[in-house]
Amino acid sequence: MCSPPANWFGELKRSVPTAKWGVAAWAIGPLRRSRPTAWYVWLWLRSLPYIGKRFVCPCCGGRFRKFLAYGVRPRPNARCPRCGTRERHRLLWLYLKQETGLFSESLSVLHFAPEFIYYRALRSLPNLFYVTADIDSPLASVALDITHCPFGDETFDVILCSHVLEHVPDDQAATREMYRVLKPDGWAIIHSPVDRSRAETFEDPTVVSAKERERYFGQVDHVRVYGRDYVGRLERAGFTVRADYLGRRLPRVLRTSYAVKKNSPVYLCLKRPTSG
Ligand SMILES: [Zn+2]
Repeated sequence: MCSPPANWFGELKRSVPTAKWGVAAWAIGPLRRSRPTAWYVWLWLRSLPYIGKRFVCPCCGGRFRKFLAYGVRPRPNARCPRCGTRERHRLLWLYLKQETGLFSESLSVLHFAPEFIYYRALRSLPNLFYVTADIDSPLASVALDITHCPFGDETFDVILCSHVLEHVPDDQAATREMYRVLKPDGWAIIHSPVDRSRAETFEDPTVVSAKERERYFGQVDHVRVYGRDYVGRLERAGFTVRADYLGRRLPRVLRTSYAVKKNSPVYLCLKRPTSG
């Protein structure tokens, strides 16, 4: 997720060399009080040395000579130095703009764990009734547990939920809730990291320590690793799932410019019409 991490100030502190920390703290101190905006201002300033022409970020509109490396095994040109989006964020943004009516149709949207750069753009669109939700994000307009949503049946036209389910112990309950609050002709984007080398999802509720979760699930706050049965798990809640490979349809020059992956799917989840 590219929303400001809960410990964003700590992350910023670690990113500044110790000798310069006193000056940096003085300079950004006032910004700390408006956390999301301060975070974006910091990223914007940090991006200035990277301005160039080779890469374009479709999310923030920035043009750069390179993107930042990112990942446990750092991938070159992965992270936008301005808005923090990675390959998957940029691909999904392109998909939303090119393949959906999100920017033109009158829609009610429920956005779980809102990514800051999406939030910043979508909240100002006059065609949307835009609701953000999370268990503790400062960007959420509704604080909730995704397995018990305080919304009526068939409330939203669109649900955006990216990289959430791998954190949720009962992901099936969360998926059923998304199916319940989605209108019959609605659509949802439900993304999670998928390990394509695994046939089946691996989860073990006895793995609870941060160290063990990092070892088995790849991140301290993950509770499972999804396998190739990910789509089947979404379908179990009632969704019809289409894996769309927009990256394969993009001309190579654009794919390179946006630094998006060719073979990353966008999971579009459609609600089957209710009978009767
Ligand atoms: Zn960007």
